[in-house]
Amino acid sequence: MKKELALGMMRLPVDGSGKIDYNETNRLVDFFLEQGFRRFDTAELYHDAQSEAAVRDCVVKRHKRDSIEIADKLTSWRIPEEMTAEEFFQRQLQVTQAEYFDRYLLHSVEDKIYEVAEEKRYFDFIFRKKAEGLVREAGFSFHGTPELLDKVLTQYPEVDFVQLQINYIDWDSPSIRSRQCYEIARKHGKKILIMEPVKGGMLANLPAEGAEILKAAAPERSIASWAIRFAAGLEGVDTVLSGINTMEQMIDNTALMKDFQPLSDDELKALGKLRAYMTRIPLVECTGCKYCVPACPLELPIPGFISVLNNAQLFGKVKGIAHTYRWLTEKHTPADCVKCECCTAVCPQHLDIPGHLERLANWVKRNDL
Ligand code: SF4
Ligand code: SF4
Repeated sequence: MKKELALGMMRLPVDGSGKIDYNETNRLVDFFLEQGFRRFDTAELYHDAQSEAAVRDCVVKRHKRDSIEIADKLTSWRIPEEMTAEEFFQRQLQVTQAEYFDRYLLHSVEDKIYEVAEEKRYFDFIFRKKAEGLVREAGFSFHGTPELLDKVLTQYPEVDFVQLQINYIDWDSPSIRSRQCYEIARKHGKKILIMEPVKGGMLANLPAEGAEILKAAAPERSIASWAIRFAAGLEGVDTVLSGINTMEQMIDNTALMKDFQPLSDDELKALGKLRAYMTRIPLVECTGCKYCVPACPLELPIPGFISVLNNAQLFGKVKGIAHTYRWLTEKHTPADCVKCECCTAVCPQHLDIPGHLERLANWVKRNDL
């Protein structure tokens, strides 16, 4: 049985200067389409605002429009003061040259964004675009509580789909509550799209002891494949998004979605064992969405710092950490954080970012990095 996979255009391969590597992206896009997949997901802010142009150059310009599907988003906090939602939308159409969007989402709905969306009537705007034929399906991506999700879906039954953050580690997490959000979306009969099934790549890089649990259960399967199969195997899931950036990941992801096999009872037991092991390691649950970076007055590379902190927690002082840390601290170190909390206000995971940066600064000092 084939399951739908969407290529998330937020973690594309980059060259030495950090720019999107178009040759490598073209290779990934072509392979993805050759395997029978067609969905691409972008947003204005991805890749320092370069993702929509990459969608245009690597996808839209190189393939027939009716052989591809493009999803884009109304990212409310990126609409400049002087710009209307209509102008923002028209600019997205112009940049991507997509002519229309197969899916258009109100981006990252949580309490504050919902408040703004209500004030500016953003849902009505998206439904209007659908009525005009410029959007095929209207939805939203969600990072709030199950209670808010219920409220939004009750208020706007016209929504075609909801994009949820679901992975096997957060499934019963008391802060993210993905199982409850999933159940609310099912109750409202909505199509479910899943984002971050591999938790920003974290579930592809398990600590050795955790990886061993999965390898013992199915030695031939990649570690990341467990996360994709868990997400895609949930009933009512229409599409799983994956931020693929290497050919190895592309081959693995497309193969397992083309001939999808849900997790067996034994595999589910192995995941349970892994979860029990992982809950003993306190990691920072950052998904790497980068919403915090432009909000920070110093533009600190927050997700990079948090990833160093998590890796330090898992692996201790290893060579790769020192290398990444040096590269991240060209302009600022985590100790430069002024604790203004502008970042925490926009973090969909509600993380105590200044607190984590302080922990990292202390760890660096202790380990003489
Ligand atoms: S609290 Fe620190 S990391 Fe967060 S926005 Fe302020 S300076 Fe940046
Ligand atoms: S700290 Fe929060 S906003 Fe920043 S990248 Fe991580 S999850 Fe996203």
